[in-house]
Amino acid sequence: MNTKVEKNSNFICQIINKDFKKNKELSFRTRFPPEPNGYLHIGHAKSICLNFELANIYKGKCNLRFDDTNPTKENIKYIKSIKNDINWLGYKWHGKTHYTSEYFSQLYQYAKELIKKNLAYIDQLTKEEIRIFRGTLTTPGKNSPYRNRTIKENIELFKKMKRGEFSEGEACLRAKIDMSSSFIIMRDPVLYRIISTEHHQTQKKWCIYPMYDFAHCLSDSIEGITHSLCTLEFQDNKSLYNWILQNTSVKKYPKQYEFSRLNLEFSILSKRKLKILIKQNIIKKWDDPRIPTISGLRRKGYTSSSIREFCQKIGVTKQNHLIQFSILEHCIRKELNQTAIRTMAVLEPIKISLYNLDENHKEIFIVPNHPKNPELGTHEVIFSKTIYIERSDFKEKYDKQYKRLKLGEEIRLRYAYIIKAEKIEKDKHNNITSIICYCDLNTLGKKPKNKKNPAVIHWISVKNIFPAEFRLYNQLFTTKNPDQKKDFLSYINPESLIKKKGFIEKTIAIKINKNITDKNEKLYFQFERIGYFCIDNLDSKKNQLIFNRTVSLRDSYKI
Ligand code: ATP
Ligand code: MG
Repeated sequence: MNTKVEKNSNFICQIINKDFKKNKELSFRTRFPPEPNGYLHIGHAKSICLNFELANIYKGKCNLRFDDTNPTKENIKYIKSIKNDINWLGYKWHGKTHYTSEYFSQLYQYAKELIKKNLAYIDQLTKEEIRIFRGTLTTPGKNSPYRNRTIKENIELFKKMKRGEFSEGEACLRAKIDMSSSFIIMRDPVLYRIISTEHHQTQKKWCIYPMYDFAHCLSDSIEGITHSLCTLEFQDNKSLYNWILQNTSVKKYPKQYEFSRLNLEFSILSKRKLKILIKQNIIKKWDDPRIPTISGLRRKGYTSSSIREFCQKIGVTKQNHLIQFSILEHCIRKELNQTAIRTMAVLEPIKISLYNLDENHKEIFIVPNHPKNPELGTHEVIFSKTIYIERSDFKEKYDKQYKRLKLGEEIRLRYAYIIKAEKIEKDKHNNITSIICYCDLNTLGKKPKNKKNPAVIHWISVKNIFPAEFRLYNQLFTTKNPDQKKDFLSYINPESLIKKKGFIEKTIAIKINKNITDKNEKLYFQFERIGYFCIDNLDSKKNQLIFNRTVSLRDSYKI
C-alpha cells in the first residue's frame, strides 16, 4: 500500500521547501515528544506519521523524546508501550531514545541565566493566588509582590528550591515578562515547580521540574530539531517558545509550527479521559478494542499500514474537523478485502437437516481462500446431512421482503446446493430446534432452468464445526462527539460489545490452533457475509478461539 507522503502534500511541506531553498545544507530534523503518561492513540499516530514521514522524504532525522517533566503522572510501562507502538507503526527513531530528563542539568543552567539577566524570579504566591493575579482575557494581570527580588536573592532561593528546602507549592520560578500581555501565556509563566515524587529516570536527583514550555523549546534546541511540529492549542505558546530561546545562550533556533489535532467521531482522544473509562470499568484496559488507542486498534484487527493510510488520507491542515469514523474503517476494509482469507462462520447457529441425504453423506468441496487471489490457496469445506446456518437467515412467518430462507422456499448454500425448507421442529418452549429441508442434488455449480436464482447463505456442516466466541464491537459512545461533552460518561453505548458463541470451520481452526501461541502472528479472516475478523491473541487459548470483529463488510454505523 502506498502511504508515502510527498514533498507538496501539505502546508508544512511548503514551509520546509522554502527553508531548503534558503539553505540547501539544512540538516532537517523533527521529533515526536510523547508524555509517558498513557498509551498512544490514533491522534498520536497522526503526529507520528507526520514527523517520521517528513524526516523520510527530506532525508532528515526524527527523534523520539519522552517529555518526562511530571513524575507524578508518568510510568515506565507507558514508555515501553509507546516505543512498541511506534515500531509497530513501522517507524524507527534516529539514534537513542531521548528524555527531557537527560537535559535537567542544562535546563537548570539556562534557568539560572534568565535569573541572572533579571528575566526570572522566585515567586511565593500560592497556586491559587498566581491564578488570580494572572488576570483574564479582558483584564490585565497584576505583578506578584515577589517580582522585584534582587538577582542575588533569586539565585539563592532557586538553589534552595533545588536543595529541597521548600515544600511543594511553597515556591516556584517564574519568567519576568509582562503581566499585561495580550497573550496570557506571557504573563510571567511558571518555569519550574517543586515536585517531591521520585522520577523514573533521575530517581531522587531532582525535586524541581521544568514546565513543558520551558523544557520543550530548549530540548528541541539541544537536539538540533529544525521543525518542531505541534497541535494548534500551542499556537499562543509559540511566543513563549521563542522568548525563551531568544533570552538564553542557545546555539540553535528551532521553529514551532502548528497543525490541527485529530478529532475522530465517536471517540475520546484524551489520555486523561481514557483513564477515567478504565477506572470506571467501562472498558477493560488500554488495549480494549473499543477505544482508538494504537493497541486497541491493533487488537481489533487494524494493521499498521491501514493506520498509516488513514493518516495520509486525512492530511495535515490548520482546520479543526471531526473526522468520520467510516474513513478509518474504509482503510482497513480496503486492505483486508485484498488479504483476508474467506471462510464461513456461524455466529448464532440453527440446525438444518437435509432429509433426503444419508446419515453418512459426506462431500468435500475445495474452495478458494480468496475470490481474486489464487496465491492465498484453498481449503476444504465438508458437506453433510446436518448443517448449521445463521438463525437470522431463516424466517418461519411469511414476509415478502425477506430474501433468505423461508418455509416453503428455496435458498442456495454457498459453494453447494439449493435447498428448500419444508418443515420445522420446535421444543416445548416453541423455539425452533431444526429446519427440515430438501436438498436438490442437481444444483451443484449450476442453475436449473426452471428455477429462479435464490439468495446465497453461509453454513457449516456438523462434521466440520469448531466452537468459537465472536466479539462484535459497536461504537462506545452514542454521540458523535463525546470529547466535546462534559458528561461524556452519560453517552456510553450499552451494546458496545456483543459476544456470540458459534462455530467456525474446523479445517480453518486447525490452522489457527497451530499459530495461536505466537502472539505476534495475526490472522485475518473474512467470515463470509458477516465481516472481517481477527483472532484475539490475548484472550484466545489453544482450542478456545475468540475472534474480534475488525469491521463489518459494508459501512453500517448506526447509533
Ligand atoms: P492527550 O490529550 O491525549 O493526553 P497529549 O497531547 O497530552 O495528548 P502527548 O503525549 O503530549 O499527548 O503528545 C505527543 C504528541 O502527539 C504531541 O506533539 C501532540 O501534539 C501530538 N498529539 C496528541 N494528540 C493528538 C491528536 N489528537 N492529533 C494530532 N496530534 C496529537
Ligand atoms: Mg500533553
